Amino acid sequence: MTRIADTLAYLYLNSLDNTHLISVIVEEKAVCPYCWESIYFEIDTSVSEQEYVEDCHVCCNPILLRVNSFGSAVNIETAKEDDGF
Ligand SMILES: [Zn+2]
Repeated sequence: MTRIADTLAYLYLNSLDNTHLISVIVEEKAVCPYCWESIYFEIDTSVSEQEYVEDCHVCCNPILLRVNSFGSAVNIETAKEDDGF
């Protein structure tokens, strides 16, 4: 009996987690500071302010990203990693 209850609790938590992920990860477009291509980044909107480096999908250079989230609105600034903001 205990084992079944544990399994159900685990499945329940797992489904909660998936719902959470779908609702906070959004795709937003920003311009690469190296090749000037518009590329999509996956943004975690559960964090209101964050900075991190992600490689450009087109030219593979390291882009420094500064992301501000206000509810569903997302603002992205990009810079070359070596230059900073
Ligand atoms: Zn690029």
